[in-house]
Amino acid sequence: MASRDPASDQLVNFKKSLKDSPGYITTKYGAPVGVKTAIQTVGKDGPLLLQDSEFLDEISSFDRERIPERVVHAKGAGAFGYFEVTHDITKYSAAKIFESIGKQTPLAVRFSTVGGESGSADTVRDPRGFAVKFYTDDGIWDLVGNNTPIFFIRDASLFASFIHTQKRNPATHLKDADMFWDFMTLRPETMHQLIYTYGDRGIPDGYRHMNGYGSHTFKLVNAQGVSHWVKFHYKTNQGIKNLPVEKANELAASDPDYSIRDLYNAIAKGDFPSWTFYIQVMTMAQAETAKFNPFDMTKVWPHSEYPLIPVGKIVLNKNPTNYFAEVEQIAFSPSNMPPGIEASPDKMLQGRLFAYSDTHRHRLGANYLQIPVNCPFRVTVANYQRDGPQTINHQNGCPNYFPNSFSGPQECPRAQRMQPRWNVSGDVGRYDNGQTEDNFSQATILYQKVFSDAEKERLVQNLVGHLKDAAGFIQERGIKLFAQIHPDLGSKVAAGLAPYKKYHANL
Ligand code: NDP
Repeated sequence: MASRDPASDQLVNFKKSLKDSPGYITTKYGAPVGVKTAIQTVGKDGPLLLQDSEFLDEISSFDRERIPERVVHAKGAGAFGYFEVTHDITKYSAAKIFESIGKQTPLAVRFSTVGGESGSADTVRDPRGFAVKFYTDDGIWDLVGNNTPIFFIRDASLFASFIHTQKRNPATHLKDADMFWDFMTLRPETMHQLIYTYGDRGIPDGYRHMNGYGSHTFKLVNAQGVSHWVKFHYKTNQGIKNLPVEKANELAASDPDYSIRDLYNAIAKGDFPSWTFYIQVMTMAQAETAKFNPFDMTKVWPHSEYPLIPVGKIVLNKNPTNYFAEVEQIAFSPSNMPPGIEASPDKMLQGRLFAYSDTHRHRLGANYLQIPVNCPFRVTVANYQRDGPQTINHQNGCPNYFPNSFSGPQECPRAQRMQPRWNVSGDVGRYDNGQTEDNFSQATILYQKVFSDAEKERLVQNLVGHLKDAAGFIQERGIKLFAQIHPDLGSKVAAGLAPYKKYHANL
């Protein structure tokens, strides 16, 4: 018989790994089960009894197997490994993870698509989530990144609407090209990410052959309390590989779990994927005079002005042993940052600082940080929080109020030194610069200088292939915006769309 891959052989390998006999079935409350194949009934054909606690134990558990699906990034794969420091960046950050060259910190990663449901195909055109959870000596650091250095929008107030346009029309329950392109073409800040996503990198070949980016700007603080702004990049050591559209479509039908399978098998075979971790650094003074807003998530920091500084590597060397416990329940939040790493005023990041923890409290419960895969197991959590559903860590007899005279945990002077004050002032208001900000120049550079001629052609085909399904007036709006990126792009998309001009509805 031909040999199978490790994912196909998971059950066979489980059986082989057992040293003893399987042992007995038990209920949740631990009682051994004598008969597993028959419900308790009155007589041979009679109705069943409410007293059948073994049946009720199982069926009530089954009824509760699913938790709410993530509203974004529902389909994903996870793995475990470590981060190792290869270069000293202690002049930028006193975070313990960067403490010394050679230091290793355990981590978990979850890769994902964004818009599809948890059963959707892996090989769709969509950004990919690349979230990393570092279990540091100072608690959890969640770097909840993507495989693109930018995003579609720069203001969190548009996030829910933006995601709605990537999901299903609430009336038809169908994906809807009008929703998608209407929003994109009404908000020109989407252009840079759109060009990126409709280029070759829009369909990576699995999760191992793509880069990760923290995407937002963050702040690093050193032991003297000096701050720098940074961007995080983690570049694949497997090389960038993308899927041609035809191959991706074929895989969506023949193997919709292609990326999960690829990751699992590579790790099971000992072919551990790795990424080299870099930062870009901007001083506070440089940020004051930068030619672009360094906190705008629709923009990159050009490499020529802010070179990549190597820091370390990410290695994935362990598959999850249970998908639900370790991947479905893993919960990342950009607000989880240890001393030495802080947020920036990036308006998307600021919105995400709240949204992620909030969604986990809804999906997993108020004590989701006590679930093993989420808990900061390298430290002892000690605070004045208590109780709530599924409390496991009850902190013994420690006082539950602060200050106290009974040896409760105290404030940490080291952490205090690493929270330098900084000045912000301004008029409170809602500042929408969607139409006035420079929305095009970096998209132009990507199109003109980074894409090869062949990729430019594929970009046009990919844009036409989707925009053709939108109403005519939306197509026209799109063509005008693409022409602002580059006149050639505008005219080529217009030519590509000409045969599809079915709808000329003017609203
Ligand atoms: P560079 O020429 O120094 O950087 C270009 C970068 O583009 C490369 O380093 C690579 O990023 C990335 N890239 C290469 N091929 C593709 C592709 N087919 N699709 C998408 N990205 C690709 O110039 P700049 O730093 O001035 O950036 C120019 C443009 O490149 C930006 O406007 C942005 O669109 C894009 N870019 C820039 C990044 C940055 O952080 N500066 C990161 C990624 C893209 P990588 O090395 O990360 O693979």
